[in-house]
Amino acid sequence: MRRVETAHVAVATVAALVALLAGCGDGRSADRAERPLLSVEQEIQIGRAAAPHLERLAGGRIENLAVEAYVRTIGERVARSTPRRELPYRFEVLDTADVRAFALPGGLVYLTRGLLASLKTEAQLAAALAHQLAHINARQVVRSLCGKCGKALLLDAVAAAQLTTAGRDARQRTETLARLAEAIHEHEYDADTEAAADRLGLDYLVAAGYNPSGMVAFLEVPARSAAPAVPAARTTDSGSRAGRIRRIAERKYRGCGGRVADEEYRGEVLDRLGGPVVPAR
Ligand SMILES: [Zn+2]
Repeated sequence: MRRVETAHVAVATVAALVALLAGCGDGRSADRAERPLLSVEQEIQIGRAAAPHLERLAGGRIENLAVEAYVRTIGERVARSTPRRELPYRFEVLDTADVRAFALPGGLVYLTRGLLASLKTEAQLAAALAHQLAHINARQVVRSLCGKCGKALLLDAVAAAQLTTAGRDARQRTETLARLAEAIHEHEYDADTEAAADRLGLDYLVAAGYNPSGMVAFLEVPARSAAPAVPAARTTDSGSRAGRIRRIAERKYRGCGGRVADEEYRGEVLDRLGGPVVPAR
């Protein structure tokens, strides 16, 4: 625990230093002179270009149109309660037992089959999506990647996304975008960024008409998951994250009802994932 906390401090310090030296941009406040590293268009470009590489790294997309359609419907519902509605959001499901979720620059959100199988209600699914949408809306995706992987990789990816997919360009394009996808696959936010996304995600969840308890239950998932592919670091602090959000929800949204929808989730997702899932590739 102590080692992990020390690592968090070290990562936060290095991230702050790199941001200062490399001009990663803050993005937390629009009235600051400091501009974000990438334009919205550039975020969208590199996210879309890196997406196929990330999908290959994480088991490919599931071949279950009904589950995908349901996840997209809920994702779009939550996205309508976020401030950056102009982004072309896309919600996909990856065919892996890992219990994970990813947000790519520019509005792409991936949840894994393992995560879907660990959830019990539509409100918990909406919470998982709201948390990733919070990372995107608070511009944490590019800022955090920049702090941990460096500005050069992101700028290389912007250049690579412009290259053609034929000849010598194709190799350079593939190599750079594959490196970005790898960085996203390995990337973890620091504890403060996760806590901020939990709080913001809770607000989106409630604004979308869901019960706030969905966020608490979603945050309890990694801690009680038996999935062997979840590294210990990803379960760190999850118990206290759920506790913190429970206290915030009780204070801020006391008596607030909202949709839970456990039967719908069972029918739309759990029953459908119960059968053999055919890998996409
Ligand atoms: Zn997160």
